[in-house]
Order: sequence, then structure tokens, then C-alpha cells
Amino acid sequence: MLVVMDAHATPEDIQAVCTVIEDMGLQANTMPGPTRTAIGITGNQGAIAEAARLKLMPGVRDVIRVTAPYKLVSREYREADTIIEINGVQIGGPSLVVMAGPCSIEGREQLLTTAEAVKAAGATILRGGAFKPRTSPYSFQGMGEDGLKLLAEARELTGMPVITEVMDTEQVDLVAEYADILQLGARNMQNFALLKRVGRTRRPVMLKRGLSSTVKDWLLSAEYIMAEGNQAVILCERGIRTFDDHSRGTFDLSVVPVLRELTHLPIIVDPSHATGRWQSILPMSRAGIASGADGLMIEVHPNPAEAWSDGEQSLLPERFVELMEQVERIADAMDRPIQGRTKAAAV
Ligand code: PEP
Ligand code: MN
Repeated sequence: MLVVMDAHATPEDIQAVCTVIEDMGLQANTMPGPTRTAIGITGNQGAIAEAARLKLMPGVRDVIRVTAPYKLVSREYREADTIIEINGVQIGGPSLVVMAGPCSIEGREQLLTTAEAVKAAGATILRGGAFKPRTSPYSFQGMGEDGLKLLAEARELTGMPVITEVMDTEQVDLVAEYADILQLGARNMQNFALLKRVGRTRRPVMLKRGLSSTVKDWLLSAEYIMAEGNQAVILCERGIRTFDDHSRGTFDLSVVPVLRELTHLPIIVDPSHATGRWQSILPMSRAGIASGADGLMIEVHPNPAEAWSDGEQSLLPERFVELMEQVERIADAMDRPIQGRTKAAAV
């Protein structure tokens, strides 16, 4: 259920509604909007018998039943887009964000040169994996905490917020100490213990779509995080498994307008993991922005042929520069400037 307050409702009216909801043994989630506040009710199984009582309270405009199985995530709950701000970088706002960096952190030189290169081209968030989910147990598993330290050094050097994957509930505190955004990988999208655990941190979480997850599965996983109190969730389409094997996955860009209708959360698209081949990254980045996504996640490596993971889909820094130039033309057509490029132009 959602209690929609009147535009003129006072803070006392809002508080009184929250108190009544809590007295019913349910949770009240206050969501201030640009014109009015909405209060989401969670914790109920089925319809709330006392809903009529809430409708009569001062400042209440309407009480709406949220029909979607996910509540906090839904547009019905929150009409305005969620904008997440990290150190001056906005995700989900009017301008676009580009996250870029290597698949895995392999060493100081590799990370720092990549960080400088992607920043110069207009990326505003640095990516790099320290804990790697690998299909084979014999593949490189990531540098662990040493990698996180390098990531923090790269942030210090470039001023870019950093995003990195957390794979396990036991790693959450450690990763959250270093990372500005926690990435939950495709293989962990339905790791419910992990979803709950990151929901209790104060770090924004980027939730990648599972390899064979429906939109409903995905949004319910986002709901797990939000239900624990963390409202800063970003969705990332990274390709799904289909019958065709011409590329690593099928980049499901048709999901972007669907998500836009169903949820207020920011949407990032990742053509690197979706296609698995560097030749496809530039055209599919253009397509991703044209589809209405809020930004991109792109793998870049100074020497892809020698990369310890995902080399075949990693872009050389000079190819990333070309990508940014091309994507900017689409961004212009969409009336959504790329944040790092605007800043570069303004200097
Ligand atoms: C990654 O970002 O390097 C990664 C492992 O992503 P995904 O979970 O989408 O495979
Ligand atoms: Mn990767």
C-alpha cells in the first residue's frame, strides 16, 4: 500500500501517518517527492484492513494499493527518478555517467594507467574487480584486498569514485570500506543473504541482471536490498543467456524502456559482458544510450591481449576515446550530456 500525502501536508501530518502504520506492526517508508511525499507500507501480507482509517487522516490525499510484487522499487511507490550522487557524480540524473576500467585489477601500473586514460576520455567512475567470479576455479580469482587498496589509490589520484564487486556476505565490510559503489554480479543476483547484507550498508549497490533472470526476478532482488533500508540501488543490464552463441550473451536493450516504466531506479548498460567481443562494444554503447539508459559500464585494458580476465572484450584506451566521441553524438541527440565530457569541455 502507498499513502499519498497532499502537497500541503505538514511534517506532523506525515509523522502521524507513520505512527499509525507502525502501530499496526508494519513499516512506513517515507519517500519525499518533488511535489508531495508518499509513504510506502511494507510488511503486510495481503490487503490492510485499516486502510480506510489512513484515508481519513489529515494531509492524506489517497491510499493506493500497489499491484506490483515489488513495492519500494516500483514507479507506483516513487514517481520521480531516483538520482544517486557520489562525490559530485550523479547516476540517474539528467546527464549520463560512464563507468570504465579493467575487468580485474592486476597491479598498480595497470590500474593507474587505465584510470588516468578513462578519466581523460570522460569516464567519471572507475571500475575494477578485486574479487572475481570465474567460471573455472583454476582461473585468476582476483587480487583481493591488495586490489582494493590499489583501487583506493586510483581514487585518490584521479578523484573518481570506484565500483567493485562483492561476492560474499563475509566480504561486505571489507569491500564497503574501500568502494564507493558495491557491484553485485550476475551470478549473485539471487544470493538473498548477500542482497540483504548489502541492503544494510550505506553504500550504493549496482545490481547486475542474472544470466537467465526475468525482469520480475531482477526487480524483486532489488527489492530485497531496498527492504533492508538501502534506497541507493542501480540496475545493470549485462546480457542474458539465449539459444544463440554468436556473442557471449544477448544484450537485452529492449528491457530499458520496460524498466523505465516499472521502476524509478537508475539503469546502466554493460555492452562488454553482454557481447564479449571488443568489436561490438562501440556500436552497442551507442545503442544502449539510444535506448534510454542512464549510462554505460565498459571494460578497458592497456593491453587486452595480456589481460588476466575478459581480454577479448576489453577496449584499448584509444578505442575507448573513440567510443566516447561516438557515444557523445548519440547523447547529444538524446539531450543528455555525458558528465565527464561536459566537465572536460568546461575546463
Ligand atoms: C564484471 O563486471 O567483471 C563481471 C564479472 O560482471 P558480470 O557479473 O556481469 O558477469
Ligand atoms: Mn569482466
